[in-house]
Amino acid sequence: MCKQAFNPPAVRVRFAPSPTGYLHIGGLRTALYGYLFARRQGGSLVLRIEDTDRTRFVADAENDIVQALQWCGLEVDEGPEQGGRYGPYRQSERQSLYVKYAESLVASGHAYYAFDTPDSIAELRKTSAAYGIGTRLQMDNSLTQSSEIVRQRLDAKESHVIRLCVPEHEIIRFHDRIKGEVKVASESIDDQVLIKSDGMPTYHLANVVDDHHMAISHVIRGDEWIPSTPKHILLYQMLGWQPPVVAHLPLILSPTGGKLSKRSAERQGIPINVRDYRALGYEPQAVVNFLAFLGWNPGSEEEVFGLKELEQVFSLERVGSAPAQFDLNKLNWFNGQHLRRLEIPALADRVRFYLEKEGIQRPDHHDLEEVCLLVRDRLEHAKDVARRFRYCFADPDEFDPGGVKKRWKADSAELVQGYAARLESIKAFDEPTLETQLRDLAAQHEVGAGRIIHPVRLAVSGTTAGPSLFALLRVLGRDTCVRRLRNAVRILSK
Ligand code: GLU
Repeated sequence: MCKQAFNPPAVRVRFAPSPTGYLHIGGLRTALYGYLFARRQGGSLVLRIEDTDRTRFVADAENDIVQALQWCGLEVDEGPEQGGRYGPYRQSERQSLYVKYAESLVASGHAYYAFDTPDSIAELRKTSAAYGIGTRLQMDNSLTQSSEIVRQRLDAKESHVIRLCVPEHEIIRFHDRIKGEVKVASESIDDQVLIKSDGMPTYHLANVVDDHHMAISHVIRGDEWIPSTPKHILLYQMLGWQPPVVAHLPLILSPTGGKLSKRSAERQGIPINVRDYRALGYEPQAVVNFLAFLGWNPGSEEEVFGLKELEQVFSLERVGSAPAQFDLNKLNWFNGQHLRRLEIPALADRVRFYLEKEGIQRPDHHDLEEVCLLVRDRLEHAKDVARRFRYCFADPDEFDPGGVKKRWKADSAELVQGYAARLESIKAFDEPTLETQLRDLAAQHEVGAGRIIHPVRLAVSGTTAGPSLFALLRVLGRDTCVRRLRNAVRILSK
């Protein structure tokens, strides 16, 4: 007889944001780690919109989340847009499922109807920290009333919630793939509300029901959800379901320490929403690369990875449990690295956008690509070309005073003039010729080449640092070079 092959359960990871605002950068890291893990394992990424909190619902948040994922190239396999066999993928469209399970928990004695009022809860809080073990029998709920009365009150549509009956004296344990063993005493857990008075489920119930119903194998989410996990474990036990593997990602700290929150980010000038990074012109691949390293490392010296490359190397084993510090300088560095990886025409397109924004006359395509090739290893952002390297398109209108003091010597005017004259007369305006002429002139005047190189650079760019001088001169072209050299002599020799 032919034995049926054992099919290990497929890896299914979900990203489960609440549409209470635009996707923030920490949320994108969660999505990214889930995506990378799923891809590496040949699994699926599910997008589930957890929109049960109607009071905090933001209408265009879902769209923003979808756009942000697309911008970064994180393809979703199932979700509100893609559909899939486990849908619908918005919790607001799955309400009846949650009520069914909450009622089954009441029937099995794991949950109860509670007719709390805000006042009765406030009163309780005066004497006890929690509504739960030890206090539930003092309250107005189905544990303290006959089932007949409870039925009548429910039929009369009296406002109520359904609460989880947290067991006494239990140690709830789970293994976190990143944090290791976690143990929590059940006494520290409130009798959680499962269904609110508006009939909507709370996060805990909906999350567990959906993770089970959507056959989620791995829950990968931020560290702040650790306190929720024991509550979820209880629900899995009570519903007789196998919990998924859980992995809580390390906290993201702001550069000055403390959790990176909307407020702390604002205070430190850190963009918080993914859409801000997009608007600021960051490369999506750089944002992805930066976020990947915010808690994970490949175990080698290599740092620059595109999304596809990350998919090949990512593993949860290499996610650390220590908090990760957000560093905008590091993101800028990654941005420069990814600009370098672009094809020159693509880089030129990005640069052109900023040139136009800065009102710099648009050079022709060929020239712009030449400039891009010249400066790309020195860029952190495409806008640098329009700013730091503005001299590639416009004559410098000032000369760095420190540079002038250091580099413009008594003989500079004569040497620069001499070089300008040579540039006018040479046939080929190429790098070897430009260099030979300069060295020849230096020899003729019995000075080192630096004595000409520095003032020439200052004259053509206004600064003392930049890309290879002879390449720069070639890109600027003969007329521009000669004009700038003579201008500088006029201005600096006064
Ligand atoms: N809806 C939760 C959030 O806003 C999801 C947490 C989880 O992944 O379980 O992040």
